[in-house]
Amino acid sequence: MGLKFIALVFVVVFAYFNGLNYAEKAPKFSFIQEATSAPEVSFYDYIIIGGGTAGCPLAATLSTGESNVLVLERGGSPYTNTTKVRMKNFISTLTDNSPDSFSQAFVSEDGVPNNRARVLGGGTVINVGFYGRAEPSFLKQAGVDEAVAKDSYAWVEKKLVHKPVAFEWQSAVRSGLLEVGVLPDNGFTYAHINGTKTSGTIFDRNGNRHTAADLLQYANPNRIKVYLHAVVHKITFRTKDGCRPKAEGVIFYDANGRKHTAYLKNESNSRASEIVLSAGAIGSPQLLMLSGIGPAARLRSLGIKVVLDQPMVGRDMADNPLYGLIISYPNSIPLSLATVAGIVDKIYIETVNGYDFSSLSLGSGAPANSTTNLGFILGKFKGPTSEGYLELKSTNVSDNPNVRFNYYHAADDLRNCVRGMKTVIDVVNSESLSRYRFRNTTTRDLLKMMVDLPVNLRPRHANATTSLEQYCIDTVMTFWHYHGGCRIGKVVDRDYKVIGVDSLRVIDASTFAFSPGTNPQASIMMLGR
Ligand code: FAD
Repeated sequence: MGLKFIALVFVVVFAYFNGLNYAEKAPKFSFIQEATSAPEVSFYDYIIIGGGTAGCPLAATLSTGESNVLVLERGGSPYTNTTKVRMKNFISTLTDNSPDSFSQAFVSEDGVPNNRARVLGGGTVINVGFYGRAEPSFLKQAGVDEAVAKDSYAWVEKKLVHKPVAFEWQSAVRSGLLEVGVLPDNGFTYAHINGTKTSGTIFDRNGNRHTAADLLQYANPNRIKVYLHAVVHKITFRTKDGCRPKAEGVIFYDANGRKHTAYLKNESNSRASEIVLSAGAIGSPQLLMLSGIGPAARLRSLGIKVVLDQPMVGRDMADNPLYGLIISYPNSIPLSLATVAGIVDKIYIETVNGYDFSSLSLGSGAPANSTTNLGFILGKFKGPTSEGYLELKSTNVSDNPNVRFNYYHAADDLRNCVRGMKTVIDVVNSESLSRYRFRNTTTRDLLKMMVDLPVNLRPRHANATTSLEQYCIDTVMTFWHYHGGCRIGKVVDRDYKVIGVDSLRVIDASTFAFSPGTNPQASIMMLGR
């Protein structure tokens, strides 16, 4: 009798907690649907284009008020195949070039391969997972109150962010950074401060990734609809003679190629009504131009009807160049993505290990999932100062536009790369990393190994192993922190409203003048919130 009772209690308690778990998850998924189920015409208070890093927290937040919110995401769901987003599959997911891949590859006109997210959760589904907050100057630039930012970061962290496991490789590089004077030791912190720290990660201790899509758990399921494989082709505007153009709706296509239109409900005194573009630093300027906001002559040459001549759309595109060294170590150790950072003013050093980095190389064809005995110590610097542009190549929204970042055109970027490389070399030669080095390999050998890897399409120069300047230029890769194209003060005002039109904002990395913190995802989600 006693045993039976205990068993019954156990079953009830188990069912209750399982039920709770289910109840917490079920509404989250019920409002996420394929766009094929969308009506031909619908009406919402807010229409968010892009369910990415900024779009998901923004949508969740707006849905908890009185407004009805629509999210249109061109990619699929990160929940359907969760092995794809496990830490060990970082490279295979990033380099998957199938049509419904979470990652859309592009090569900038600089000859550097790059990637854009195409999935609910955006960049947080394909990225390295490093999580750190921004420096105070970013908040000032972004026009975000410090206390609001603090609450918003905490809101994000509660759902997604984990204290990382102390991976052997990360710990060794951490010691190396301290040994070469990247001080003080700041322990574990999300703060952006000088010294060496372990920061947050969006991977839990089992290697499962938690993404911006998880922030939709905060949404009111009765006030939000998320459509997947909903490719937005255009924002439409009401234009009356003498009046400012007003965004009124969006045209999107589902996976069967069927056209749908979503309109803004009419604004009332109690309710605002807006379209928010959160399609990322490539997608947002691209879509503004496809909708008729951009440099008039260029738009007309592609047959696009001009709504507003705005030459600054697509200008000031920047990407933080990645520099670094790959080390081959003798014994295999568990792979890790970045959790440790060294910060010396504008110079940031991080590291990853165990991945087959040759899969990132052009034309490698190597099996992307094999583990290796390779560690990659890499760096970026604040900024950069060098800037380029984005231009439409065609009127097909699924085509990548032409993008040029002009890496190292500014002299101080090159100086920062050389400073960063000197720290990388010091760490590689530190006592802490000595047991991970083959004794006969020199720094020059390591520089040469990198120069010989086809990490980009740029020419190699004979002095690339003797001049760090040339090394930086020849081996430049992306840190994937590209930004700009819809900058504050140029394309959007300080409230992120598109200058010159009504009912349209942009909230994502395209509005940034520089990439916040060592890594931007924390601040992009904070901004969405
Ligand atoms: P995204 O998150 O890219 O969101 C844009 C969304 O809009 C996407 O989901 C896209 O599919 C959708 N979209 C675009 N066009 C359309 C359209 N026409 N119709 C419908 N939907 C559309 N940051 C860190 O902080 N830490 C890291 O470790 C880190 N590592 C990175 C590694 C990689 C490989 C990459 C690619 C990025 C990394 N980043 C990292 C950077 C960070 O992930 C991005 O800066 C950030 O995710 C960008 O956020 P976003 O909201 O601007 O754009």
